This record gives sequence, structure tokens and C-alpha cells, in this order.
Amino acid sequence: MKILKEKDGTYKVESSSRKGKFYVVDLDKGTCTCPHFVLRLRRVHGLCKHMQAVKDKTEERDSLGYGKIVDYVKEKGEVDSLKLIKRFNEEAVDDLLSRGELIEKEGRIRILE
Ligand SMILES: [Zn+2]
Repeated sequence: MKILKEKDGTYKVESSSRKGKFYVVDLDKGTCTCPHFVLRLRRVHGLCKHMQAVKDKTEERDSLGYGKIVDYVKEKGEVDSLKLIKRFNEEAVDDLLSRGELIEKEGRIRILE
């Protein structure tokens, strides 16, 4: 399932039955724009498959991605930012930078001590 992260923190998830059609998932509000959610699940605060897919993706990033990146940078001391993005995942690296867990200076990434 194709999932795209938007700048405002919501996600666009592609419909499995209609290629090229995307629904907007907002996990903070607990909503999706697909008909199944709007017509049925909203009332019972249920999760549709699009919301579930986004949840799985973000949980996986938290449990697998972040720790590995931080450990890698710690071990190397300082890493070229392009190499780090190539090796791991740009979204996760960006997120760590915005959280302040990693710092980038002149194309090099290191850990905040
Ligand atoms: Zn949905």
C-alpha cells in the first residue's frame, strides 16, 4: 500500500481497489477520508485499513529505524549526511534532525552530546 507523508503531519494512502486514488489519514484526529470510515467507522471510532497501514508504518519506524540510525552515527562519530540518507531512510533522518537527536553541519551529521 502506497503511503505518502504530508508536510502537515497527515498521510496520503492509496486505495487498494482504485489505483491513483488517495485517501487522507490524520492519526492525531483519528480520521480517514475513505467512504468505509466516513460512512461506518467514524461513529464507532474504528480504524479502517488505511489508518491501520499508517499506524503500522509509523510504529515500525519508531521501533526499527531510529535506534539503528542513532547507533550508527554514534559508532562512526560523524557521518556524511548523503551517505546516511542513502543507507537508511531520509524521512527518519529528517525526523531525528528535527527532534534534535542528530545535528547536521556542513553536510556532516553527528550526535548531540
Ligand atoms: Zn480509510
